[in-house]
Amino acid sequence: MNRADRIEKNLLNYLKEITHTGTELERNNENFFKKWFDSIPYLNRNPELCGFYDIEKDCLKRRIPWALLKGQGNRTIVMLHHTDTVDIDDFGKYKEYAYKPSELEELFLEGKVELDEATRKDLNSGEWLFGRGVSDMKGGGCIHLSLFEEYSLREEFSGNILLIGVPDEENLSAGMRSAVNLLRDLKEKHGLEYVLLLNVEPHDRIDENNITIYDGSVGKIMPIFLVRGKLAHVGQIYKGLNPVNLLSAIVRKTELNPEFIEKAGNTVTPPPAWLYFKDRKDVYDVSLPLLAGGYMSVLSLNKPPKEILDRLKAISEEAFKEVISDMELSYEKYRSLTDMDYGEMDWKPNVKYYGEIYNEILEEKGELFKKEIAEFQKELEEKIDKGELTRIDGAYHLMEKTLEYYSDLSPVVVIALAPPYYPSTNNAMLDSGREINELIFELDKYARKQTGNGIYTQNYFTGISDLSYAMFTANKENIDYIQDNMLFWGICIIYHLIP
Ligand SMILES: [Zn+2]
Repeated sequence: MNRADRIEKNLLNYLKEITHTGTELERNNENFFKKWFDSIPYLNRNPELCGFYDIEKDCLKRRIPWALLKGQGNRTIVMLHHTDTVDIDDFGKYKEYAYKPSELEELFLEGKVELDEATRKDLNSGEWLFGRGVSDMKGGGCIHLSLFEEYSLREEFSGNILLIGVPDEENLSAGMRSAVNLLRDLKEKHGLEYVLLLNVEPHDRIDENNITIYDGSVGKIMPIFLVRGKLAHVGQIYKGLNPVNLLSAIVRKTELNPEFIEKAGNTVTPPPAWLYFKDRKDVYDVSLPLLAGGYMSVLSLNKPPKEILDRLKAISEEAFKEVISDMELSYEKYRSLTDMDYGEMDWKPNVKYYGEIYNEILEEKGELFKKEIAEFQKELEEKIDKGELTRIDGAYHLMEKTLEYYSDLSPVVVIALAPPYYPSTNNAMLDSGREINELIFELDKYARKQTGNGIYTQNYFTGISDLSYAMFTANKENIDYIQDNMLFWGICIIYHLIP
């Protein structure tokens, strides 16, 4: 069977094993890989060179399929893909076709589903396979599988190939984060030297005849804000401070703020966007809300998280000042019209990082606080694990609980980082960056000659990917900083430092 046929055959088998992200179905990746391992004579002869690696403390008990092909020497290429796909809700009444490319194609050809111009053109060309996971990314995974198959038949070759399939890419990248441990274990056990990691995610093309490859992956942080105001009845509004007003001012100054657009190499990030904004009130009453919260997404290339957060803090202070001065203006007008008086306004801008507040309380209240918060955090994590609480609500509960210990009761803006956090990465950060660029140059020449298609290098994949966890080059200052301000750091399900 030629390579293309083998890729397609593996793909059709792989698609049959449904692996919707963030569900127990993800474990079906094992059904596919068990059969595939069995089909490779090399792995039958060397059963210790393949297996399933447990994702640490994973409530869905997902595992990472891996296989190592040993040639000559230590130099090792890692071939990586993710085994999960998104679900098929968008297939509507045609869900049963989602994993059957040829039947889906027939359905399309019958004209039962409305298709846009570009898709119809692809359909009529007969050169495309349709279906959930074909492109993102079991198809790519099967390219790696077929290369592994071919090399496994060689008597001798230089280097080693490690194939890895990671769960949870479309969700929180639990697979990739645990794969880091697998990479370390295999490196120690077999003396591997990792020289290149290839990921076969689908790609966009600027034009038909140029294949895009990405030599980096965009970074993403999620700053989360909790604003505590001052409670007041709406009839005595000047006695209070409305956190909705203050958070709105922060949102207004940061949403789409062009100051955060970054350019590195030939890649530009979109500006920040707020993804959530709510008061924290559970019931209706005629008082101001005490708390309001929101979180935003900021994409980055070269800027370290600390620099981004410091800017957000400064902007929040400005917003705080403006809100106070607007309130004073309003109060002045009110007082000029009535004898009612609520005393002087003496609000002060107060913006703190979560880590700062945590440390202030720790200094004041000592170890008991630390213990109680750790216990509370554990309870929250269990609830998140069981699906009784969303990750984001858990983050708010944790921040609110911490504030309960804080003896300063004046209005305050608390800024923290919510998971997930994706560090930005680029090959240029590696010592071997130049070597890789030369390789891309050679690959371009080869591709032009063989296929007529050139290679265009985009410096960062802006769709956010697992490869954020494939290298990490932040300095200690930034790591400490993230550790201090990242909610749920260090306990179990989210992030911790690998020893
Ligand atoms: Zn993907």
